[in-house]
Amino acid sequence: MGAAGITGVVTVRPYGSLRDFLPPGRRGLEISVRTDGRAPVRHIAGAAGIPFPEIEAVLLDGEPAGLDAVPAPGSRLALYPSSVHGLLPACPALRPPLGRPPSFILEAGLGGLARILRLLGFHADYRPDGDPALLVEKASSSGSVLLSRDRGLLMRRGVVHGRWVRSGDPREQAIEVAVSLGLAPEIRLFRFCSKCGGEIDCVPKIEIDHLLEPLTREHYDEFWRCRRCGRIYWAGSHLPALKSLLEGISAACRTALTPEPSME
Ligand SMILES: [Zn+2]
Repeated sequence: MGAAGITGVVTVRPYGSLRDFLPPGRRGLEISVRTDGRAPVRHIAGAAGIPFPEIEAVLLDGEPAGLDAVPAPGSRLALYPSSVHGLLPACPALRPPLGRPPSFILEAGLGGLARILRLLGFHADYRPDGDPALLVEKASSSGSVLLSRDRGLLMRRGVVHGRWVRSGDPREQAIEVAVSLGLAPEIRLFRFCSKCGGEIDCVPKIEIDHLLEPLTREHYDEFWRCRRCGRIYWAGSHLPALKSLLEGISAACRTALTPEPSME
């Protein structure tokens, strides 16, 4: 129960990747948020600049709590991201579990990330001119993860699964998303077309032989074709770049598994 009508301050302490939302120079510190005793955890986190979909576990005055719990003025809020959640005892799940492997909806500006996610075998719906309300609705009704560079979009009512994309570089973005959502075991190459997102199938060489450049015809025997746009894939076309990306993802996953040194 909150103490409605009494204003005061809630002390918010974010952990792990949630510190990325604090202003530079404030990393690792607590942040004070004014409350009238009516605001739930999700709004207090938002006032501290932290979109609630990134929060996986909450301790309110040391006790597990949900996003709709109402902190009384004077209370302390500890917020944890997914990488730390498994280390906390008995915290309730804050949202329905994410379907595996997850699918994605991406807002304008994230076309490069969408192409990489498809190459890694994930369904990625890129909506460059999507209305924000529609993006949220579509992500929630399909159980997809909403990926956005706009924190405000992720704080909208109705967002269930979402991640703020921190980097401006598509390769770094893919590593961020893979680490944060534990995608590594689900990566499957040559499943979706990087260009249009259609499913791709193995195709006998003889069927597409006439479309190949001489060197490709000479050096490769395995091919895949997009059911929707007809684009042809072979190991030489994307594999070198993908291999370096996969190495980047496994290196980043190993680093992320190192537990936090300080926990409340
Ligand atoms: Zn295609």
